Amino acid sequence: MEQVEALIVGAGPAGLMAASQLADAGASVVVVDAKPSVGRKFLMAGKSGLNLTKDEPIDEFLSAYGEAKTWVEPMVRAFGPAEVRAWAEGLEQEVFTGSSGRIFPKSMKTSPLLRNWMGSLADKSVEVRTRWRWTGWDGDALKFDTPDGQRVVKAKTTVLALGGASWAKLGSDGSWATWMDAQTVPFKPANMGFLREWSDFMKPFFGAPVKPVRLTVGEHAVKGEFVVTARGIEGGAVYAISSTLRNGGELSVDLIPDMELKDVITKLNRPRGKNSLSNHLRKTLGLKGVKAALLREAGPLPETFTGLAKRIKTLPLALDGPTPIDEAISTAGGVRQSALSDELMLKSRSGVFCAGEMLDWEAPTGGYLLTACLATGLHAGKSAAEFLNDQ
Ligand SMILES: Cc1cc2nc3c(=O)[nH]c(=O)nc-3n(C[C@H](O)[C@H](O)[C@H](O)COP(=O)(O)OP(=O)(O)OC[C@H]3O[C@@H](n4cnc5c(N)ncnc54)[C@H](O)[C@@H]3O)c2cc1C
Repeated sequence: MEQVEALIVGAGPAGLMAASQLADAGASVVVVDAKPSVGRKFLMAGKSGLNLTKDEPIDEFLSAYGEAKTWVEPMVRAFGPAEVRAWAEGLEQEVFTGSSGRIFPKSMKTSPLLRNWMGSLADKSVEVRTRWRWTGWDGDALKFDTPDGQRVVKAKTTVLALGGASWAKLGSDGSWATWMDAQTVPFKPANMGFLREWSDFMKPFFGAPVKPVRLTVGEHAVKGEFVVTARGIEGGAVYAISSTLRNGGELSVDLIPDMELKDVITKLNRPRGKNSLSNHLRKTLGLKGVKAALLREAGPLPETFTGLAKRIKTLPLALDGPTPIDEAISTAGGVRQSALSDELMLKSRSGVFCAGEMLDWEAPTGGYLLTACLATGLHAGKSAAEFLNDQ
């Protein structure tokens, strides 16, 4: 059995941040990951623009974590948007603030940042082992499948940062939950699309953005845009409302969110002349293309203009449930707060800390995910270093 001082399992942003903290505290650190290379999901996150964090008042930022707000609050206050920004700049990545305050590296990609981060960890003598899959416990030690067969490692302190349960091909398959016993909450998709079997006339609009719209489920309303896909709907506004929609409720779409109902009625009542209804809708309200198709998709149109205006403002869109969890941008569920101390140490296993998306919190897209992964990774790494110090 191999003995190490600090062991990090999972080389995503949370695990690498924990490794960095432990190394800074002078610990000898070994990072292992199941995949042949590190940070695969982190790299995927940069494929369409790596949204690191969001420039908004911290109270607003924290409200994105919903029920988990009070749990993550001290960690995100300690390492929030300003700190994430400074950290990226410290890795020689210039950042910029895009639309609605979202912060990206200028390169938009993960790879230059990850390259510099791995370089800085190598400078701190952090050892990285890939193709090391954690398969469970052997008493206090951890068992791994490695290219050289099974290995057992006993660490003075361990940080588990295994990610959620989506995009399994990138490494985070959630399999670890089976040997965490009752300490986990079942995984659910988060920030995912929803399925719908469209009528044939919707086909020309597959891939079309629908904007601006307001999506409402119960009390939860979000203004933004979404995309009609061959299988249903996806995109920012859908992700933002996905946790409420996932838990039940009907989706209603406001196709003209910037116009009051009474103004829609007034405009519809303008003389129509010889215009067809679709021309009238286009000329008076600018409703055309995919929005006009969605209006038709919702069934026979009301006969009065008042009824039609209400339909336009509260279009019911029936859905057939979320897309499969493996396609979700993130997952809810994972290690429950009650299983952990404030230091993120498992109450059932002294010296074993957890961080990142594997914890039972969720947040919408917009940089909230990476910020909390980095913040919890930092907190777990610092706590693990203090644990070592106390031994
Ligand atoms: C398409 C896409 C786009 C995204 N875009 C953004 C974005 O712009 N902004 C944002 O904030 N978030 C984004 N995210 C989410 C973000 O990437 C994740 O929340 C984040 O990577 C989670 O970090 P983590 O370190 O907790 O876990 P992960 O990054 O999932 O890392 C976990 C690591 O653990 C390893 N592992 C798992 N099980 C084992 C095991 N048994 N043994 C050994 N190793 C194991 C995995 O191989 C993996 O490397 C995006 C996600 C996707 C899929």
